[in-house]
Amino acid sequence: MAFNFSKDNLPKQLFINNEYVESKNSAKLTLNNPKDGSLVADDVALAGEQDVDAAVAAAEKAFPAWKKMAPTQRRDIMMKLASLIEENGKALAELTRITLGAPYGSFGAFETGLAAEAFKYNAGWIDKFAGQSFPQEDGFLKIVRNEPLGVTAGIVPWNGPLGTVGLKAAPALATGNCFILKPSEKTPFASLALGPLIKEAGFPPGVFQVLSGDGSTGALLASHMKIRKVSFTGSIPTGKKIQEMAAKSNLKRVTLELGGKSPAVVFDDCNLENAVTWTANAITANTGQVCFAASRVYVQEGIYDKFIEGYKKAMQDKAKVIGDPDDEGTVLGPLVDEAQFKRVSGFIERGQKGQGKLLTGGSRVGDKGFYIEPTVFTDVDINSEIHNQEIFGPVSVVRSFKTEEEIIALSNSTSFGLMAGVFTQDINKALRVASDFDSGMVGVNCVSLMMMTAPFGGSKESGIGRECGEYALRAFTEPKTIMINLTY
Ligand code: NAD
Repeated sequence: MAFNFSKDNLPKQLFINNEYVESKNSAKLTLNNPKDGSLVADDVALAGEQDVDAAVAAAEKAFPAWKKMAPTQRRDIMMKLASLIEENGKALAELTRITLGAPYGSFGAFETGLAAEAFKYNAGWIDKFAGQSFPQEDGFLKIVRNEPLGVTAGIVPWNGPLGTVGLKAAPALATGNCFILKPSEKTPFASLALGPLIKEAGFPPGVFQVLSGDGSTGALLASHMKIRKVSFTGSIPTGKKIQEMAAKSNLKRVTLELGGKSPAVVFDDCNLENAVTWTANAITANTGQVCFAASRVYVQEGIYDKFIEGYKKAMQDKAKVIGDPDDEGTVLGPLVDEAQFKRVSGFIERGQKGQGKLLTGGSRVGDKGFYIEPTVFTDVDINSEIHNQEIFGPVSVVRSFKTEEEIIALSNSTSFGLMAGVFTQDINKALRVASDFDSGMVGVNCVSLMMMTAPFGGSKESGIGRECGEYALRAFTEPKTIMINLTY
């Protein structure tokens, strides 16, 4: 099974038990290219109940041997997959770009790199993820082992189709679980194309499988009685449904990486240029379709006018590099599809009716495809929807503030808690504010970034659990306590 996928040869079948198979479900997925709305395919597999059951059965069969495989052998398989993803990175990114619209230079390369890095990083943990032991002086030696859960699943969104695969599949597989991947119905191709790479890397049949499908496929996984864990990245409403399905079925473990409305707090004493660069990049990367984008920018009044001048210019400069995602010079592509375009445009339209003042942007770019200008609102009402809801496009709101106390309260006032940023040259203030933010992640003189080595995730409705670092391995294992009676 050679890897020869491209936009002219798309993978459209399910990958079960190390083979491509037709779905038993007659319904299919339809996909369009967001750069011009043209049809990409209308015959992509949408996995139904029989397909999910077949994948779960194959995974259950594969689990005992996979769990017992020598750590070094499992590590080598994971490392090989990382190399294969790197070797085929451009082709994989093209398969994503054709329905996501994200340029290679500004997004595709990062995303495939993230997936490869996740496999390398987690492979390195395989023989280092130690358990614990406790004092035996009471006559019992206590050993705690990190046991894999069994058959696990990952349901991923369209905005980071391959990166999120790495963040879920790699720790799941490293810890000895079998893993079923369900990509988004909007971006299935890079995931489906992993088939030959999974096989060539040496994963035994049933260990790592890919089921394309929509919410109905995700629901089958989340409510399956034999799946022991679902790791989900996506919207808050879907995350809530998944937790409910998990509870109502077999109480499977759940990790939820959900939405955000992340604040960036810019103090008078910051390095202005640095603050402008990070905040402008944060809301325009992947055309603003990033969960931890800094979409609320709060600027202290002493620096407000200067910041606004710089931020407006930076956003207008971004508008100049909007274009066809297939062209090398393009930095910003279109929004993912018509539904997302209508959603973002709706926020912008309503925002102009009394919620805030339009500083820049606000319009569609061109007359075909789903392009939109980077858009900034100032003087925003703190009770308005543009201030409090996730827009998931290149749209930010800016407000001025006076005091640290006031801005911490406002920063923490939404139901989200994914990321926050503070810009200041005063280290005491930076650390004070960082500890006062109610969020899973904080950037100091930076914002909207992630590290493979450190926990990634949110507080409040932004999620449950963490990815990356050792936390990801914990999320895919169960501690087992073994008590040894030393008297006999
Ligand atoms: P979504 O919730 O619509 O879909 C995500 C995935 O869930 C898709 O694969 C979809 O098919 C599946 N799904 C839909 N309904 C389902 C159901 N009832 N049961 C099971 N699965 C179902 O989200 P989206 O539009 O693909 O992604 C955008 C959202 O994801 C944004 O809110 C964004 O902030 C969030 N996101 C969060 C992170 C993070 O790490 N915190 C990262 C990226 C995106």
